[in-house]
Amino acid sequence: MNNLKIPLKVKDEIEKVSRIAGYLWQREWAERNAGNLSINLTSFFTKEEVQERGDVIPFEFPKETANFVIFITGTGCYLRSLIDRIEEAACIIYINDDASGYSIIWGGKQEGFAPTSEMISHASLHLFNSKNNPSHLAVLHTHPLELIVMSHHELFQDEDKLNNSLWKMCPESRVFVPRGVHCTPYALSSTEALAKVTIEAFKTRDISLWEKHGATATGEDIEKAWDYLDVANKSAKLLLMAWSAGFEPAGLSKEQLNELEENFL
Ligand SMILES: [Zn+2]
Repeated sequence: MNNLKIPLKVKDEIEKVSRIAGYLWQREWAERNAGNLSINLTSFFTKEEVQERGDVIPFEFPKETANFVIFITGTGCYLRSLIDRIEEAACIIYINDDASGYSIIWGGKQEGFAPTSEMISHASLHLFNSKNNPSHLAVLHTHPLELIVMSHHELFQDEDKLNNSLWKMCPESRVFVPRGVHCTPYALSSTEALAKVTIEAFKTRDISLWEKHGATATGEDIEKAWDYLDVANKSAKLLLMAWSAGFEPAGLSKEQLNELEENFL
């Protein structure tokens, strides 16, 4: 199982993960074992390269994820370990022919390793993206501080208002998070219920803001998924800073926002 040949392109993607893990740690978005991420690598391998490697571990995946190859972080693993011990804290899995189980074909070297308990959310999102947004191969779930604070605020109950409040704080968020943030109702971690509400979120928005928990985004690669969260969180931070300073910011005017939409969206 250890002689899986990792194509250069996959190595590049794995290096990006280490870099982004450093950002997540520095930003205090990844305390202890918080957060998880994955990349759909199916297109980088042939079936012959990945099948029949390692034991098959039973798991109930969505049927259509059969033969998917996914890089994914480990349960209980610290995201900061991805910086310099990525083969311990993450793995590549191959989902078997009838999606009844998976084998670990690379990494997962930490003792007692198993993929993240959010694996069902990740697999479901990759399936959704493969049909609806095929260029988005990466999924990132983390705990961006200011966005989480906003999920405790009453604005969270009015998605349009929340998005307008964020977009008007800086031009970048209107341009680079064009579909905005979904106010995803609280659901228990690791459940199919959470996977379901998260899929719903991505039907209309760029980010799923999990109420009183964290946020999830997808992107072409892990860096682009991070960008969505970084830009949206900047807006949330600016808004909270204005409130802390004791004023309600007028923000960009309707005309200014329209101008951005006409020129960039
Ligand atoms: Zn979380």
